[in-house]
Amino acid sequence: MEDAVVLAARCAAPAAGEPYLLTPGPLTTARSTKEAMLRDWGSWDAEFREMTAQLRRALLDIAGDVAGDYDCVPLQGSGSYCVEAMLGSLVPRDGHALVLANGAYGKRIATTLRYLGRRHTVLDKGDYLPPRGSEVERMLAVDHTITHVVVVHCETSSGILNPIGEIAAATAKHGRKLLIDSMSAFGAVPLDVREIRCEAFVSSANKCIEGVPGFGFVIARRDALRDAKGRSHSLSLDLHDQWDAMNRTGQWRFTPPTHAVAAFIEALRLHALEGGPRGRLARYARNRDVLVSEMQALGFEPLLGERWRSPVIVTFFAPAHPAFRFERFYALMKEQGFIIYPGKLTVVDSFRIGCIGQVDASVMQRVAKACAHALGAMGVDCAAPSDAALRERGALAAMA
Ligand SMILES: *Cc1c(COP(=O)(O)O)cnc(C)c1O
Repeated sequence: MEDAVVLAARCAAPAAGEPYLLTPGPLTTARSTKEAMLRDWGSWDAEFREMTAQLRRALLDIAGDVAGDYDCVPLQGSGSYCVEAMLGSLVPRDGHALVLANGAYGKRIATTLRYLGRRHTVLDKGDYLPPRGSEVERMLAVDHTITHVVVVHCETSSGILNPIGEIAAATAKHGRKLLIDSMSAFGAVPLDVREIRCEAFVSSANKCIEGVPGFGFVIARRDALRDAKGRSHSLSLDLHDQWDAMNRTGQWRFTPPTHAVAAFIEALRLHALEGGPRGRLARYARNRDVLVSEMQALGFEPLLGERWRSPVIVTFFAPAHPAFRFERFYALMKEQGFIIYPGKLTVVDSFRIGCIGQVDASVMQRVAKACAHALGAMGVDCAAPSDAALRERGALAAMA
C-alpha cells in the first residue's frame, strides 16, 4: 500500500507545450485518463451500462456507505447542475434552507434556491471566515421552520476547509437535514457518511477524483431520493427520475457524457492505486505544504492560517510592491508552463494556486521558482503583502 502511494505520487508531466492547470477543476489529468477517451461508446450498450454501475459503486465505497443507506446518482453537466438538482429535488417546496456562505459557492447556493423559489436564510460569513457549529445551533434553536442546512465543504473561492464535522453534529442534534457541496473536497478530504450525518452531498468528475469535466454526482440517502418523487421543478434536473430510471434500465435518461465516463473509470483506477482518499490527501497536503513554504521563502503570505488551509487550493495575498500586476504575473507564469487562478476576495488583492490534479511536490517547487522568475521580470524585489492585507488576516485569526 505505502509503495503504491509513493509510486502513484510521482506524476507524469503533461504533453510537451501543455501547461499544468493549477486550477481546481478542470485540472491536469493523467495521460491514461485522457487516453481512455479515444474510443466511442454506445450509451445503451451493456459495456457502457456496466461502466456506469461501476462508477456508482466505486463512489459509494469512497463515501463509506457500507450499510447501503445511500445511492449515487450521476448527472450530466457541471457541478452546479448537480447542486441545483440536489436542492430542487431534496428541499421540499415548503421547506426552508439555512445556507452557510463564506464565498462564491455558498452565494451560488443561495442564488440557486432563489431561482427555485425555495425559502432560505443565509448566514453570510464574508470572504473567508468559517461558519461554526455553535452558530448553526443558535440559529436552529430559534427558528423551527428551518428544515435543511446547506454547507460548502471546501469553499474553493478562498480555499478554506469548513468544519463540516461540527456543523453536521449541530444539524443532527436539532433534527434537521444536512446537504453538502463537497465538490472540490470529496475523494481527498475525508467525507464518510458513517461519521458525517448528511442527507446528501454532491461532487463532480473534474475535481479530486481527477477526471475530465462533463458530469457530477449526488450521493443521497435512498429514503430522501424516494421522497423526492414529483418534487423537482425541472425534468432534466430531477434527481428522483434520474435515479429511478438508472436503477431500472442501467442507463442515463438522456445522452450520457460517454467519453467523460470512460475517463472517470480510469481516474478511479488511479485513485484506488494511489491508496484511495488517504493516499490522495497525503499527496495534496504535501503539495500544499511545499507550495506554502517555498512561496513564504519568496515573501508571499497565504490568506489563511494552518488550521483552515485546505489541501485543495491556496490563496496568497498579492505583493504590495507597485510594480506587481496580476495580468503580467499570470502571463509570465503561463509562459513557464503554469496556469494559475485570480483571487476572489473582495477587500484585498490576491491570487490562488491549486494543489489538486496530476501534480506533485516537485511540480510545486518549480511553481515557486517560476513565481520568483516572474517577480524578477516585473522588477518586484519583495513579495510581501500590504499592511491592509496583514491586518485583514489578523482580524481573521482573532475571529475564527
Ligand atoms: C467547482 C465547484 C462547484 C461547481 O462549479 P461548476 O463550475 O459548475 O463545475 C461548486 N462548488 C464548489 C465548492 C466548487 O469548487
